[in-house]
Amino acid sequence: MQKEQFTMKILVINAGSSSLKYQLIDMQTEGVIAKGGCERIGIPGSVLKAKGNGKEKVYNNDMPSHKVAIELVLEALHDDEIGVIKSMKEIDAVGHRIVASGEYFKKTTLVTPEVLKTLEEKTFELAPLHNPAAATAIRACMEVMPGTPMALVFDSSFHQTMPEKAYLYGIDYDDYKKYGVRKFGAHGTSHKFVSQEAAKFLGKKPEELKIVTCHLGNGSSISAVDGGVCVDTSMGFTPLAGVLMGTRSGDIDASAVEFLARKKGLSHADMVTYLNKKCGVAGISGVSSDFRDLEAGMEKGNERCKLALDMFNYQTKRFVGAYAAVMGGLDCIVFTAGIGENTPYVRAGVCEGLEFLGVKLDLEKNEGKNDGGIRDISAAGSRVKVLVIPTNEELVIARETAELL
Ligand code: AMP
Repeated sequence: MQKEQFTMKILVINAGSSSLKYQLIDMQTEGVIAKGGCERIGIPGSVLKAKGNGKEKVYNNDMPSHKVAIELVLEALHDDEIGVIKSMKEIDAVGHRIVASGEYFKKTTLVTPEVLKTLEEKTFELAPLHNPAAATAIRACMEVMPGTPMALVFDSSFHQTMPEKAYLYGIDYDDYKKYGVRKFGAHGTSHKFVSQEAAKFLGKKPEELKIVTCHLGNGSSISAVDGGVCVDTSMGFTPLAGVLMGTRSGDIDASAVEFLARKKGLSHADMVTYLNKKCGVAGISGVSSDFRDLEAGMEKGNERCKLALDMFNYQTKRFVGAYAAVMGGLDCIVFTAGIGENTPYVRAGVCEGLEFLGVKLDLEKNEGKNDGGIRDISAAGSRVKVLVIPTNEELVIARETAELL
């Protein structure tokens, strides 16, 4: 059994509304043997950039649907030049990333017709951009690779261990029961991966550690991981909650939302779009949602770019402090994802003033080059370790899929 598992090749699929990213992972080495991404699916100008055998190939084929995109991905995997497999039989399973599970799925789940029906009938309204795209990709895979087992790996699974007092909103309990409105969290695969990597790096068991994981990217979330399990997280019913993000507002008083909608003459749906697309650091700075642009603006003296960055640091720090309190201690802070891995200004801003918790950053190490590995950026003698850990959500999806099988 053990040996069989280690010879597996798992195809990981991450489908968005008009995109589809994939990686083929060899579970023996946990190495990526091929990867790529389709963009502009269903839009003129679709393209697949595929890598394999150390080479890259660009396919400018029309991709009117996710089915055509999957067929093209399989063609690339078989390609004479960049191909890495001879037969479809070499793909042992497919792991699909699913953003929202609601209360319908608690953990990684094998795809069956009933499971797919539940995904389609119950969860689309929870992630209207992502879940329908994933379901289309699953159906496409079922058509072009019938008989290959498939797993649904949910972004929210790692957060299922949150206690009721952490995931409930202060609403009528009957409404929670009736409509399933509660905190689900997101980026779970990333929080799980980096918290486990942190434990390995520190030579400890996950059970021995209280970790705050900061997944800071275009979407950002912060989690409290106590003894290897998630006890709280900053995202909520949807990924709009928590800290302000690239274009998302983060937490905001619901009455202010109603007030703003009235003033701006926006419908409920348009207001949610506004909060998702027009706010965050892009809204505050008036310049960009990209932290590289904000830093460049700040360096040129743009006060609103600096304000956006400082708000982001402040709000992230607030969660770090809150989660240290929730866990009754703190052993490690992990920074990951695009911003967490690449933006020293943010890491320094988040850790500044946390000396009372035992956090001491080595400013020189913090400014050091990103070498793609794990970096300990805490000062000698810092009781709390501060680590930069590159995330690898695809590997978690592949591991969960292999485990399920
Ligand atoms: P992610 O969503 O994890 O891909 O993170 C994307 C964000 O990370 C970008 O929008 C940038 O604001 C930020 N970032 C800062 N430096 C870098 C970098 N060197 N490479 C990629 N992303 C970066």
